[in-house]
Amino acid sequence: MDSHLLSSSPMAAKSHTPILQHLVDITGHRDHSRLELSVVSALRQLMDIRRIRKLEFFTQDDTAYVRPHLLLEHDQVFAIDDNTSDHHCDLLSDYPELLQCIEQHTNSTQRVEPDGTDTLWLPVRLDNKIVSCIEITNDTVYSAQTVDVIHGIVEVYRNYQSLLDYSERDALTGLFNRKTFDEQFSRHARNAASLAPASAGGERRESSSPTQWLAVVDIDHFKQVNDRFGHVYGDEVLILVANLLRSSFRSNDRIFRFGGEEFVVLLRSAELESARSIFERFRQNIEEYDFPQVGRVTVSLGFTGTGHGAPVEILGHADQALYYAKQHGRNQVCYYEELMSGGDLQVADVAHNDVELF
Ligand code: GH3
Ligand code: MG
Ligand code: MG
Repeated sequence: MDSHLLSSSPMAAKSHTPILQHLVDITGHRDHSRLELSVVSALRQLMDIRRIRKLEFFTQDDTAYVRPHLLLEHDQVFAIDDNTSDHHCDLLSDYPELLQCIEQHTNSTQRVEPDGTDTLWLPVRLDNKIVSCIEITNDTVYSAQTVDVIHGIVEVYRNYQSLLDYSERDALTGLFNRKTFDEQFSRHARNAASLAPASAGGERRESSSPTQWLAVVDIDHFKQVNDRFGHVYGDEVLILVANLLRSSFRSNDRIFRFGGEEFVVLLRSAELESARSIFERFRQNIEEYDFPQVGRVTVSLGFTGTGHGAPVEILGHADQALYYAKQHGRNQVCYYEELMSGGDLQVADVAHNDVELF
């Protein structure tokens, strides 16, 4: 897990900021990690806590896992960089109380060890689906009153998180929207630049191996779908393509509806050849899917590494590869760097080209 220390203060210096002020702070953020940190800060100022973790859930090969993110330990608060995929994972079955709480749709569960260690789990649901869980551990058993305060704060967090999530998503498909892409991708680019080693002259070099791949996906001849079957069927195709995107990529990849019938995928930490085959498998999944009434639909995809350049350039590269795919028969996956090295594409004049994304 890649996390960095944000702050540290002695337990004894616990201030008693009124709960109302904490609620104001919690609901003053538009960014998930800041929201989480303000929740942690409220909890640690109001009560003794040894450790807080956020657990994320995912399923792979029919097995449920949890991916713990450390938020606070021994009064040190950590920020989580979820751009890295080398997180440690546990089996959900290692958390029997939590598993039972999820199955029974209850709001929290608690385990008290013989030595008095008290652990509380408070799942966070969005649209009735569990998305994460706050885990709070302390050396001694909490009083009923303290548990009530924790419940109240986590309830505010749950409600606010669901509002925040709503503003980040596209209403038709439930995928992240373009605004979210812009925010997440520029943050990723800033992180990548700050992690790049500095050269002897003090200049920052960009990292040579991309840790992410960016793909732009566009439905082929989508206008014809609308024209032949009507907008309602067009919308249905968009929803089904979004579902196929979700099922074709892993939980730590990010999928966005960029606009109309165009989607963007950020694929995490794969080698070039596996990235290519993952994109290719998705293209095939679409080609083989029987869309009700509409029948066959295909997509074109352009992708590029995200290790070099400003966000707008990276997006432009993927879009150029997509444009090439469209010009050369559609229903195919094209890789920008390969097209460039093969002489099939020229460097675009960013200031004057007519690439749609600019
Ligand atoms: P190409 O293969 O070159 O991508 O052709 P295309 O027909 O897919 O591309 P074009 O950009 O000409 O058409 C995109 C169409 O997508 C036009 C627009 O009406 C439709 N569209 C955009 N947003 C929506 C939407 O939310 N719902 C529906 N039903 N259609 C949409
Ligand atoms: Mg299209
Ligand atoms: Mg388009």
